[in-house]
Amino acid sequence: MSDSSDFKPLPRKNKAAPRKRQSVGANTPSATRRVSRARAAPPADEPRTPRSRRARPPAQKNRFGWLKYAAFLMMVGVGVFVVANLQPTPPAAPPPADFTPDPEATLVPTQAPFFAIPHIFELPTDTPTPIPTPSVPDVAIVAGHWAIEGAARVPDVPDSGAICPDGTREVDITKSVADKTLSLLQRRGYRAELLQEFDPVYKDVNPDFAPRSFLSIHVDSCLVGAEYAYATGYKIAHAEPSDNQVQDDRLVTCLTRSYDKVASKYDKPFNYNTITRNMTEYHAFRKIDPTTPAAIIELGFLGQDYDFLLHHQDEIAQGLARGLDDFLKGQTCAPPTATPPPTTTDAP
Ligand SMILES: [Zn+2]
Repeated sequence: MSDSSDFKPLPRKNKAAPRKRQSVGANTPSATRRVSRARAAPPADEPRTPRSRRARPPAQKNRFGWLKYAAFLMMVGVGVFVVANLQPTPPAAPPPADFTPDPEATLVPTQAPFFAIPHIFELPTDTPTPIPTPSVPDVAIVAGHWAIEGAARVPDVPDSGAICPDGTREVDITKSVADKTLSLLQRRGYRAELLQEFDPVYKDVNPDFAPRSFLSIHVDSCLVGAEYAYATGYKIAHAEPSDNQVQDDRLVTCLTRSYDKVASKYDKPFNYNTITRNMTEYHAFRKIDPTTPAAIIELGFLGQDYDFLLHHQDEIAQGLARGLDDFLKGQTCAPPTATPPPTTTDAP
């Protein structure tokens, strides 16, 4: 007979092993439910220990805990630095009345900042970077029929310029007026360039030569006599057909408005009827950049406007320079108003 104390129940298999999780279904809680467990009350006979004395799980030491103190100190340091450098510089004490500056002394700052102010994060200043600009003149002025002595001429058109019986030459007037106009424009700050009638710059077709404005100055013929009564006054024209109609029109309008103020003073009208194809098909129009605003002017007739052309060149040049200036400034240049009738006080 076996003793009852020898009985040992067989160990239940996998008693402590967690139950295999069942597949998620309708009855499965979405989160593990916290089961509140009643705290075991200490035995009545055990003396109640204060909470702080109670045994705690040993806290894991944070090896980087000191960083927050370092960060705090850094922030304080930066704050002190900023406040110290924001202090306005105290005004310098006025020098004593008998103070005489030493001319030999070098300029040394008497009040250095308490902290050296770094300029590491200085923003880039807006200093203009020199950009190489192409050689584009604001104005190119042709002195009609003028050529540098000895320069190679390319006689595209058989036009040597008018020469009057008394020896007065068209080219002398165009060169003189072109020089005066050029110097007036340069005095206003423009890059103005003087060109020969057959300048090397447009010796061949040169679409790269694109000044902001182009004006060729000419003077009309020496016709005198009753049958040439019409041969007086000036005219301004652009290329026909134009490759830049709006700007060509504006250039002609600006020049006309300004030049008419001078010409009308001497009773020299705009002579529309004598605009020829020599003007509208002027050879240089087709040798520069086709979009360049370009015009040609006949200042007057050498025969009947002789006195005006020879003795009022300063005013003539002022009229041209003002017109080009208006154009380059972008003015609309309303057409000239009707020429007022000349009075006795206007007579030269
Ligand atoms: Zn001419």
